[in-house]
Amino acid sequence: MNVPMLDLVAQYSTIKDDVLAAMMKVVETQQFIMGPAVPELETAVARLSHAKHGIGCASGTDALLLPLKALNLQLGDEVITTPFTFFATAGTIHNAGATPVFVDIQPDTFNIDPAAVKRAITPRTRAIMPVHLYGQMADMLELMSIAKAKGLKIIEDAAQAIGARRKMDGEWRVAGELGWVTGYSFFPSKNLGAWGDGGMMVTSDDAAADRLRKLRLHGGAKQYHHDEVGTNSRLDTLQAAVLLAKLPRLAQWSAKRREHAAYYTKALTAVAQVKPPVVDPANEHIFHQYTLRAERRDALQAHLNKVGIGHAVYYPIPLHRQPCFEHLGYKDGSLPQAEQASREAISLPIYPELTRTQLDRVIDAIRGFYR
Ligand SMILES: *Cc1c(COP(=O)(O)O)cnc(C)c1O
Repeated sequence: MNVPMLDLVAQYSTIKDDVLAAMMKVVETQQFIMGPAVPELETAVARLSHAKHGIGCASGTDALLLPLKALNLQLGDEVITTPFTFFATAGTIHNAGATPVFVDIQPDTFNIDPAAVKRAITPRTRAIMPVHLYGQMADMLELMSIAKAKGLKIIEDAAQAIGARRKMDGEWRVAGELGWVTGYSFFPSKNLGAWGDGGMMVTSDDAAADRLRKLRLHGGAKQYHHDEVGTNSRLDTLQAAVLLAKLPRLAQWSAKRREHAAYYTKALTAVAQVKPPVVDPANEHIFHQYTLRAERRDALQAHLNKVGIGHAVYYPIPLHRQPCFEHLGYKDGSLPQAEQASREAISLPIYPELTRTQLDRVIDAIRGFYR
């Protein structure tokens, strides 16, 4: 029996009726652009994020790009972020006209190291962009105190962390509640995935929300009146309808992922050559990915390929070593934790619909390789 890395068809069969009915409602009214499902989803996602405003947009990438644009960044301005993330985190900083400044990660959680952020601040620093990698929140308490002391904005990249929580000063705080603006992605493989591209920004800053609403619609609050130059980055109404139909199941899907993660970790703790993911005790992880550190990672991958077990490496080349950022002057060894993580990390299938038998197959394959 093969176990795929992700099986969206398995999920489809459980949600088909609800989602198709929601889509047909849009089709029958022919309100494809900014139909009622869009503001409805915006309200629901803002509520989930303990934020005042949700602003739908075309992708997770745009959900990061537009708040960066709203900072009016000038050439030479710097935004501090992690090199151990999906490319969009840093690509958007570049595309907004600023310079990404990469700092190292904490080896246990793979998230940005607040002490390294602090050391990297210069007079040109404008913002910090933490990523809640794999579905567990970064150390927001520490990051917020640094940002506050220096007058910097935090843009949370929560593309992998919708619904993740962290206990701070004894209270549960959620991804999206703490930064100035937070970006979500609804890419199909994310915990809440659309049937196409989609994204959303959430914020509790009224002025920022107004600005972001304009930026996603060619810079105008009123049609044919343009205060500034924006772009077309609306959330498609059909996608909003899909997401609204799926949203009530998000919490149970994330709970299922946590259950699978606990099962893997229990079994894999006995395998000396791998290190299961560390959950910061303050965090409730949503396991967008279940990521091990593995000895002889590349050979393990070859073995898993041979025995039909899905897996993936997020991310094989840290962003400070990408050719497009060579001009920034980072070298091999500049950010050793991120570099080591890119050599050791391997993610296993963790989607909610996995069966016990499938989980056991994955575990057996890993045991078999190291035996
Ligand atoms: C998926 C992802 C994005 C980008 O989202 P898209 O919807 O694919 O544009 C940004 N950051 C991270 C960390 C992601 O995982």
